[in-house]
Amino acid sequence: MSREEAVVLYPTPAIGHLISMVELGKLIVSHRPSLSLICLNNPHVRHALISISERHRVLALVIDFFCYVAFSVARDLSIPCYYYFTSSAGVLAFFIYFLTLHEKCSDESYSDPETLLEAPGIPPLPKKYMALPMQDRRDVVYSMFLQSAIEMRKSVGIIVNTFEKLEPRALRAILDGQCVPDGPTPPVYCIGPLISNKEPSNGTGNSSDDRDAPESLKWLDMQPKASVVFLCFGSLGVFSLEQLREIAVGLERSGQRFLWVVRNPPPDPSRPVATVVQADPDLESLLPDGFLDQTRDRGLVVKSWVPQVAVLNHQATGGFVTHSGWNSVLEAVCAGVPMISWPLYAEQGHNKVSLVEELKIALPMDESDDGLVRAAEVERRVRELMDSEEGNSMRERMAILKDEAKAAMGPGGSSKAALAKLIESWVRS
Ligand code: UDP
Repeated sequence: MSREEAVVLYPTPAIGHLISMVELGKLIVSHRPSLSLICLNNPHVRHALISISERHRVLALVIDFFCYVAFSVARDLSIPCYYYFTSSAGVLAFFIYFLTLHEKCSDESYSDPETLLEAPGIPPLPKKYMALPMQDRRDVVYSMFLQSAIEMRKSVGIIVNTFEKLEPRALRAILDGQCVPDGPTPPVYCIGPLISNKEPSNGTGNSSDDRDAPESLKWLDMQPKASVVFLCFGSLGVFSLEQLREIAVGLERSGQRFLWVVRNPPPDPSRPVATVVQADPDLESLLPDGFLDQTRDRGLVVKSWVPQVAVLNHQATGGFVTHSGWNSVLEAVCAGVPMISWPLYAEQGHNKVSLVEELKIALPMDESDDGLVRAAEVERRVRELMDSEEGNSMRERMAILKDEAKAAMGPGGSSKAALAKLIESWVRS
């Protein structure tokens, strides 16, 4: 039997050493991709499961989409394996259908960047909105995603962080079996929205009596109700210097109040992802001359990070420009705040299509042909969100969804019932 190659990297857990060692690992893998197989971790997963089984009856192994290689370990040990899908039901519909799409779509048609990918229950997806590695069938990550999607069809159940009333069409397509045309679809449990539950400190949507409240919340306390557009791009989103300046000009011209989280530009402008710890930005040098002074009475720029859930739930927040990571979307839904969708990486382009075309709770932020979102687009969209009929009707839809989200998690709610059913399936097995 041939033995797979392995190089074991053993860093000390100090962050400077860890980051450097991870970079070394990435460098090695870029030269020898066979070394990247994450199944190297399987012996540890197996060992852990066996050792837990000595003292407990293991009812289920719940894996992330990216940890699909552990599926075989669970199967060998006869432990029921469930997926926890941390994105939307719309993206799930696409992934369960992915094998069918792979078989249906020829290499030639798939290589066309203008291809529209059709899957049941979701709007047609322009290929360019898929995660980058999934756009190229020769990419090793494409095969990994495909394999995970195949294993997912064989899982005992799929747990999804969404709720029925948010994505009814996608869920119907999955539950009706349309996404797995040639076999059974595993049971799907919508148990969301699960979000980090950090309410503003005094629970009133106002933080003025908390002396330790972050600057962003104190500033929001001084703004009128629903008047502020909040711009924040997930845990990893970053922009080139040129793009930051376009945003600044657009915000200034929009005349709207804003709270904007700014990070340093990435070293490589084509990769809008901060994968290493970032130094705080020097705002004066990054933003256009005079911008901070000229907008001082109606805008706040915060370096690197804000408590997003508290900001979204503050009564002064009236709109959210987001990269459309699924946690951010759910947090906005739970706060009843309408969005502008500006995807940067991963499955966010997919979310944009659903939010704008299907759920109608976000406006699109569209790039120009050179890939930049111009100041005029920022200005136009921010105005539209904060001060137009369209913005108001999205706000009304979000208010309804906010109540539906609460109801889903409450007594007798659909997500609560799904959780009970899931636990019942574990206990019965
Ligand atoms: N977040 C935050 N403050 C920030 C940026 C992000 O609290 O300044 C939190 C946000 O509330 C969300 C998470 O980071 O819970 C980002 O998750 P998401 O799925 O939206 O995007 P990702 O970071 O995975 O791309």
